[in-house]
Amino acid sequence: MIRFAMVSWTMVAITLCASTSRADYGAFDGEVTYVYREYFYLQADNTYEFETRNLSPGGDTVMYLWYDQAGEQVAYNDDYEGLASRIRYTPRQSGYYLLIVRSYSNSSQGGCDIWYQGQQHQTTTFGGWHIAAGNGTGDVYETVHLLGGATDTLIFLFRDEDARLFTFDDDSGVGMAAKLDPEWQFQGRLVISTYVGGPEAVLARVLVNDKYSDQDGDGLGHAFETAICSCDDTTSQFSCYPGYGSTLNVNCAALVGTPKDTDNDGLEDGWEVVGIDDASFPQLLPMWGANPLRKDLFVEMDWNDLTGLSSQLEVSNAVQIAAIFGASQTGAALANPDGTDGVKVHLDIGHASPCTVQSDPVCTAYGTWGGASLVQEPYWTCQIDRSFHWTQQPTGNPCTTIPLDQVIHGGVWAPSYQAFAQVRHGVFHYSVLTGSGGGKGLQPGWKFWANHGAAATVSHEMGHNVDLGHYGSKEAGMANCKPHYPSIMNYYGGASGFSRKDGAWGDTALDPTDLCEADGLGLSPSQRTEMDPLTQAPFHYVIEAANDPDGNNKIGVDWNRDGTIAPGPCTSATRVRAAINSSVPPSLRSCEWSRYRTDYVIEKSTTLGLAQTPAVVHTKTPTHDRMLLFYRDGEHMHVRGSASDFNTPNLPGCSSTLEHGCGDWSATPAQLSGSCSWPDATTGPAAAPIYLSSSEARVVTVWNVPAAYSCGNSTSKLWYVVYNPGTGAVTQSGWVAGTDGVTGEPSIAGYDITSEEGLMLVFRKGDGYLWQNRMVLSGGNLSWAGAATASAWQISTSPALTSSPALYGAKLPSAMLVDNQHRLFWLVWLYNWIALDTPGLDAHQTDEKPGFAWVPNKPGSTEGRFYVAWSDRTTTNSSGHGRLMIDHTVGVGSSPLTFQYKTYLDNEWFFAPYGPALFLDPAIDDNLRVLQMFQRKDGDVPKQEMQFRPFADGRFPVAMKDNNDFLVMRTGLCVSFKGCSSQCGSNPLSPGFSCPGETDYLGQQAPPLPPQADP
Ligand SMILES: [Zn+2]
Repeated sequence: MIRFAMVSWTMVAITLCASTSRADYGAFDGEVTYVYREYFYLQADNTYEFETRNLSPGGDTVMYLWYDQAGEQVAYNDDYEGLASRIRYTPRQSGYYLLIVRSYSNSSQGGCDIWYQGQQHQTTTFGGWHIAAGNGTGDVYETVHLLGGATDTLIFLFRDEDARLFTFDDDSGVGMAAKLDPEWQFQGRLVISTYVGGPEAVLARVLVNDKYSDQDGDGLGHAFETAICSCDDTTSQFSCYPGYGSTLNVNCAALVGTPKDTDNDGLEDGWEVVGIDDASFPQLLPMWGANPLRKDLFVEMDWNDLTGLSSQLEVSNAVQIAAIFGASQTGAALANPDGTDGVKVHLDIGHASPCTVQSDPVCTAYGTWGGASLVQEPYWTCQIDRSFHWTQQPTGNPCTTIPLDQVIHGGVWAPSYQAFAQVRHGVFHYSVLTGSGGGKGLQPGWKFWANHGAAATVSHEMGHNVDLGHYGSKEAGMANCKPHYPSIMNYYGGASGFSRKDGAWGDTALDPTDLCEADGLGLSPSQRTEMDPLTQAPFHYVIEAANDPDGNNKIGVDWNRDGTIAPGPCTSATRVRAAINSSVPPSLRSCEWSRYRTDYVIEKSTTLGLAQTPAVVHTKTPTHDRMLLFYRDGEHMHVRGSASDFNTPNLPGCSSTLEHGCGDWSATPAQLSGSCSWPDATTGPAAAPIYLSSSEARVVTVWNVPAAYSCGNSTSKLWYVVYNPGTGAVTQSGWVAGTDGVTGEPSIAGYDITSEEGLMLVFRKGDGYLWQNRMVLSGGNLSWAGAATASAWQISTSPALTSSPALYGAKLPSAMLVDNQHRLFWLVWLYNWIALDTPGLDAHQTDEKPGFAWVPNKPGSTEGRFYVAWSDRTTTNSSGHGRLMIDHTVGVGSSPLTFQYKTYLDNEWFFAPYGPALFLDPAIDDNLRVLQMFQRKDGDVPKQEMQFRPFADGRFPVAMKDNNDFLVMRTGLCVSFKGCSSQCGSNPLSPGFSCPGETDYLGQQAPPLPPQADP
């Protein structure tokens, strides 16, 4: 009654009845029945009698008596009366003897009565699945348990010549599977039995493995691997049948990785075929769906209930995740050896699958496999390292008691993996699902966390693990929200699955610093509808057939949103610069457009302190060219310089691809305060440059000195310093008259009007007014115009002014001149932005000093934008820090300052305690730059850092392209476990790609430390 089922991944036909023929190697699926077994205690020198009677029609029993203590058969009978059996036996030693009754063959199974000492003892079935076993010294036989099949099996080995029972095993295989590794030299047969009796045959697999001819070290012999279509070396070529689909032509010389892992998914062939044995937690990978010829991704998903509700993954989400990874028409990109599509995911989520068809990947997409569990606070730890190095939880670390929601928004926690079994390391990915927040995943790596509520979010973090960034492949241009990269990895949310580069959105490389609007995505007018997504949220681009004199006839895109599509042919004059991955309200997207090439000027500081916005300026003379940062550290005011332009490749500390910030910040900052004659500050400074002549520059910096720091003052006052950036000397300093009672941080900016040139100072007082003063340049000397006076702008009546003002001043292009005078703009918070002559702008909220700057559309252009950035009060994290937002105008000059492009400066999880300093450095380029403070936890210690971002307006030189995410996964699954090991082969998208250690969730390697240089 043996039926072969065409199940799962391999099935090679053999002739069952020819038990004297040489066995084939391979993996065979069949239905297993019961070999009757029962122990009897027999006394020495007494005679015992065992019989089978009342056999069912067609039944034929063979009876054995086995003495465990001797490890051998002591009595045997096939046919005593008809096809029934009888043993009479007189033991010499007392002890337990095992009575075994099997069928004679596969076709003679049935039922019978067992008689003992002339009495009917019991009724049973008898059977066993018979397979020829050759005489292969060094062969290993073992059972593998399958979905919906036997869960405990035995293997018996009989000699054909005299039917002698040679040996048997119950549980030496993986879990409760059986395994025989006998030394023998005869023709024989294997009989596989279920552990418990019953009338039903159940599915099981038996492996006939020439293990001792294994060449690649995966535990599978050469002939065995050839039979199941996997590789044992890097040279063999053969045809085989994997048990499904059609015959495969296997070429082991063309492997992506190593023969030990034929499908290059990081899981050795032996693990996928046999499973991994462990005394307490065997990994039944074949039952859970592993296949050495297709990429498999196993994930343990633990969960917490810190939000009061369980965040265990729901079945519907598991099914969606399986569909996202299992997308059709992806087999070739993945290089699945069997040519099938998709990555098969297997999620241990603590919910059993009702489906029991081993060959259906949906049935093994999820299950309850012994790992998934609830983990609570003791399993969590805070950690700080931006490189996401997973540190040991310090003893008594109070982080472990912080409610999860308070920690994740700081972006600094990680599970400690106490709940992740050691046997699963390197086999499963590990995650803890949460009830809130988004997620983070190592890229590449095997750990992530994610909000359980959305299959897309969980899939996204799993994508990071298998080496996908928010840009797909690193070689496709490292930028989030590429408008023509429709992938779940992309924050714009334009796709529900991974990108497969089907051509619909074109294959154009888009460089935000060099865009041809007339060419758009390179699509022709007949393909216009394919570009519709660009016109919808979050981008809302205007597209139209471009009137292109060069005859390209493409659909153009107004990349820079200036209302017109610059006509072709594209030349340096008509090409535009634009942040093409920026969303448009109300479709806020966390497009991270400012973070590329972030330079971490100061890291992990405990002294940068609270309540400050730093200041940044650039001065350039024939003998001097330097960017300067003014900031408060440990209550003292400091200045630090850099001669880098932050654009040029191969500067010290800069990688050739410029993917990180880099520069030569002076190692030792100069200190500008610290005594009664140089008073300290509790807030950040304001700073602005002014040129005394073409060869002499000065920077005037101003800060708020509280009474407690001023050695005699009874109230807060502003202190100013005139700094010579060429020599580092302070040439003037002192109190600013009329500033008693100043509150918060001041602002200072240059002006140049027909009648006068100088610097304007604006600050607020508790009296409800913005106050002002001017430092006038006259005859090469700087002097205050007088005492500060209250301005006409009273702003504290109702509601109260809570933020400090930001001021912008510069020699504006002539298009912006009114009455032929350069004008000053300043912004304050009063539930509306207020700018001089331009009331009623978009409502933004902040308690901190915002940043404010004007940036031309292209170098030398008179058209440009005002940018404002602020720490937003409408959403704060548990530390009270707001999200960093940015907005900008389009069109200046006589048009009103309408801010309408509000979005996140970084991503939405980026919370900053203070407003940033915005900065245009026309001496270098026309990009918006930002200097900002950021706070994160280092263990249980809050620490601050100062970041400089030279491309804060999202116009950075990167060739943005679409890519096929499944091509990244071709090697990414292996890389997730093995890192930069050559075992994983090279990705066609990333030739020569190396991964020198774990990278952070930003998809960026930890940046090099700033090189040391003179101030
Ligand atoms: Zn992500």
